[in-house]
Amino acid sequence: MFSRVYRTCNHLLMPKRSVALHSRKMSNNIDNIAKVLNANLQDSDPELWDLIKKEKHRQRVGLELIASENFTTFSVLQCLGSCLHNKYSEGLPGQRYYGGNEYIDQIEILAQKRALEAYNLDSEKWGVNVQPYSGSPANFAVYTGITEPHGRIMGLDLPDGGHLTHGFFTPSKKISATSLFFESMPYKVDPATGLIDYDQLLISARLFKPRVIIAGVSCYSRPLDYKRFREICDEVGAYLFSDMAHISGLVAAGVTPSPFEYSDVVSTTTHKSLRGPRAGVIFFRKGVRSVTPKGEKILYDLENRINQAVFPGLQGGPHNHAIAAIATCMKQTKTPEFVAYAKQIVANAKRLSDGLQDKGYKVVTGGTEVHMLLVDLRSAKLSGAKGEFILEEINIACNKNTVPGDKSALNPSGIRLGTPALTTRGLVEEDIDKVVDFIDRGLKLAREISAKSGPKLVDFKKAAHEVEEFAKSIANLRDEIEEFSGKFPLPGYPDL
Ligand SMILES: *Cc1c(COP(=O)(O)O)cnc(C)c1O
Repeated sequence: MFSRVYRTCNHLLMPKRSVALHSRKMSNNIDNIAKVLNANLQDSDPELWDLIKKEKHRQRVGLELIASENFTTFSVLQCLGSCLHNKYSEGLPGQRYYGGNEYIDQIEILAQKRALEAYNLDSEKWGVNVQPYSGSPANFAVYTGITEPHGRIMGLDLPDGGHLTHGFFTPSKKISATSLFFESMPYKVDPATGLIDYDQLLISARLFKPRVIIAGVSCYSRPLDYKRFREICDEVGAYLFSDMAHISGLVAAGVTPSPFEYSDVVSTTTHKSLRGPRAGVIFFRKGVRSVTPKGEKILYDLENRINQAVFPGLQGGPHNHAIAAIATCMKQTKTPEFVAYAKQIVANAKRLSDGLQDKGYKVVTGGTEVHMLLVDLRSAKLSGAKGEFILEEINIACNKNTVPGDKSALNPSGIRLGTPALTTRGLVEEDIDKVVDFIDRGLKLAREISAKSGPKLVDFKKAAHEVEEFAKSIANLRDEIEEFSGKFPLPGYPDL
């Protein structure tokens, strides 16, 4: 203790001249520290700066059709890059384990209020937790909160369009921790129609007696029948947990059916069609769950269970910069621009689906009513991997995906295409016609290459790069696409 006092006071003990010297040194030191701390990334880390610039360029010149991606707004990026990032605030507003949370509390309360408003929810009937780090942790928190270890859950199988966190496992391995710590049984789509087989789900649920049924998809181009899910849940005594990660922007804008009327719990990511920060949110019911024949009211007890599963169950300090960004993105959903954007997403997806079908491609379920579609490339005699590869070569980003009836998840036969990101950049139907043309020309080229290279993906890739005629066609198409996409602005910082 003494030495600390002494050290901080030792300039008082020095002769005058050396005090002046010393304080000049100190201020130099402070200047230096400030310089280091405030260095522009471009100067402090040119190697990384260069990589970010390259990624920005890639985003600008490409056509982003990955259904889960988007370009978030400048306001959201400002929140993410703000001082809120610095603060620890474990706990909930008003009940923190750290001091200094006066403003953080107000920000989190604002995010909660706006999240409820975005979905027109009554705060007497619904509560919300805005702390999950992303969609996967949010889902794990839901299961942790509403069931016990080895509790039974049922979700749409991953190859059928479900998400990993809906309990995915294979015969040889429990892939997702949601299948390791909980007992999961998948339900499926009807391979003939590509639509969820609700009758079979009911039969399986009667036998399996799950605690939770998950209504949520990562690759499915039709609205879910939440009413049907509710009926099945009621019959077997399960919670209905809707995971609206992909469609939450569309739900907020009212352009696709909302899960809230029928669900007990709803989770979402905030970075997909919602166009906010990379984060997660959980909504849970409050108030009366049911009334017994004697008129006794049974109340929901989800609020504490879910809040405590998030913290201290699974997480530590909330990401306050992300929570602020959630607040502002939820506010954005209430603007006419956002509603127009969401409508345009669906219009663009329909146009994309129609255009590709006009050119002879097969679209699973025959079309789309949401933001995405699944193209079955089997009749085009291509694998999903080859399709994805060639499109990536020409700067169209999408992902290979299993289609109903695929034998192996390792060699999927389709590609998933989504329109949120392109819609954010301002593309409308006429522009989508151009995109259809680019995709068609890319896939035709892929067929030519495949005819020459044979079935193996390695040979296909080799031929695409090494056969001069193919490499040239790829380069030409890529240049054309770069010129086209360059016309559409990207939100955000100019460089980063
Ligand atoms: C994307 C997605 C998630 C997971 O979100 P992450 O933020 O990637 O963890 C969960 N559920 C569904 C249905 C999704 O599509």
